[in-house]
Amino acid sequence: SCNCKRILRDNWLLIATVVSVVLGIGLGVLVREHGNLSNLDKIYFSFPGEILMRMLKLIILPLIVSSMITGVAALDSNVSGKIGLRAIVYYFCTTVIAVILGIVLVVTIKPGVSQSADDIDRTGSTPEVTTVDALLDLVRNMFPENLVQACFQQFKTKREELKPSKQPDKNSTVEGNYTIELLSMDQENKTKEYKIVGLYTDGVNVLGLIVFCLVFGIVIGKMGEKGQVLVDFFDALNDATMQIVQIIMWYMPIGILFLIAGKIIEVNDWEIFRKLGLYMATVLSGLAIHSVIILPLIYFIVVRKNPFRFAMGMAQALLTALMISSSSATLPVTFRCAEEKNRVDKRITRFVLPVGATINMDGTALYEAVAAVFIAQLNDMNLDVGQIVTISVTATAASVGAAGVPQAGLVTMVIVLSAVGLPAEDVTLIIAVDWLLDRFRTMVNVLGDAFGTGIVEKLSRRELEKMDVSSQVNIANPF
Ligand code: ASP
Repeated sequence: SCNCKRILRDNWLLIATVVSVVLGIGLGVLVREHGNLSNLDKIYFSFPGEILMRMLKLIILPLIVSSMITGVAALDSNVSGKIGLRAIVYYFCTTVIAVILGIVLVVTIKPGVSQSADDIDRTGSTPEVTTVDALLDLVRNMFPENLVQACFQQFKTKREELKPSKQPDKNSTVEGNYTIELLSMDQENKTKEYKIVGLYTDGVNVLGLIVFCLVFGIVIGKMGEKGQVLVDFFDALNDATMQIVQIIMWYMPIGILFLIAGKIIEVNDWEIFRKLGLYMATVLSGLAIHSVIILPLIYFIVVRKNPFRFAMGMAQALLTALMISSSSATLPVTFRCAEEKNRVDKRITRFVLPVGATINMDGTALYEAVAAVFIAQLNDMNLDVGQIVTISVTATAASVGAAGVPQAGLVTMVIVLSAVGLPAEDVTLIIAVDWLLDRFRTMVNVLGDAFGTGIVEKLSRRELEKMDVSSQVNIANPF
């Protein structure tokens, strides 16, 4: 029983989160069946979950800035270059493996061959991005013209009354670069209808900040005595931020309970899950193979430790990703799990995790490849080898370009589709189930980053040890 107590004490947060997911599903089903909530009620109902999302997004900015700057400044540029290169190689290899896995599965299972595009209702409207626009945007984001602006979250909520004649749009639409979700709508009850439109943009331009912090960290790390005050400042900021993360974690079970319950109440088209069942099964089995076999195998080959124990250490982060579909917003939890549970060196996590959350998305890459081939199958299009290669390359690029926010991958899908001449508006065929797949691919994205920290740490062990020794020398003999 002593052992039980310890397990409880060490994992109370994880246990509380699992319990709240179960309760949330139960509550969601119950209210859905018996609650008869109006649209507005539904939004009030999801309020505690909304607050959790806001808190997590709130902490992204100080977290990324302080962790990146101190992470890079703590390494001398020679070492940080090596670690950076290893991380990039890891990101790239695992992403490509995920894409290939996705292609193999979708070509074998052929989820789209028995149906045609006309059998599935098109939902929502088409994003107006082209391949070139999207790729240019990726680079553009690396160089924000205004650092302050790069930190701003544009979050607008509009409440619009629906005229009875006006047909409400379906679940969600994608507009420009941003996903717009209709948080609520009701076709039956015409008396007082509101549609609430939340405009989620990639509030913080994470990629741009990362590039800047990388350069900034290297520069102040090299400045010596004079730069030290800045290094210390950001170090203290990082500690303070992690303590705030700790506070947010206390609120997390409550927020998650209402997030999941609210989602269950909100979804109104379960029929589509049957129509797209085989497609979803293909994506999900790919994600499962990647996260249960491939990533653990790579981890085991390099690190020679039990990958499943490592993954268990990340459980809280994985569950969070599943609940909130955003790797950026999960980042605070990912940090905590990697550093506290898995004891990965902070000099590694501070570098590998923020960058990974932004550009390393195995789950998204796999999903993009499967979805593109699926849409080709729906259109009775026979893909030749060249087109398959094109899909692989663009799916990789699209996963790098996708921000770590909900359903970003759906927007960058357009890159893949238009590259092989598929109609871009066909993303609307899969929009209806995307919110669900998004959760699972986000979880795999986070898992990929997590294993990355362990692998890069192992590969960099020698440099890290050397630094430890030389810093001890410095402490003993400061002059
Ligand atoms: N939601 C995913 C993430 O944050 C991105 C995607 O839409 O694939 O990692």
